[in-house]
Amino acid sequence: MFRCPHCEEPGISPLRKAILSPGLVAICKSCSESSGVRYPSWLLAMIPGTILMLAALFVTSESLEWGLNIAGFTLMLILPFFFTPLHKENG
Ligand SMILES: [Zn+2]
Repeated sequence: MFRCPHCEEPGISPLRKAILSPGLVAICKSCSESSGVRYPSWLLAMIPGTILMLAALFVTSESLEWGLNIAGFTLMLILPFFFTPLHKENG
């Protein structure tokens, strides 16, 4: 569980955090307040995965292309999940 920025309790489920992106909010199970992520930190977390997937467009080996695509996709899921901080959403 992820810690809620409102009540400091672990009220945000990992699944909710995984599909969280700017514009979507997660509701805390403890206090029912909403929190979300901010564009700058979210975009920053998407950069490494994006670079790998772009690099896949320029390789000639098909197995390397698959490897880069899979690694890039995995990074795009994992990095925002672990490194994008939750912020309070008001309103
Ligand atoms: Zn809370």
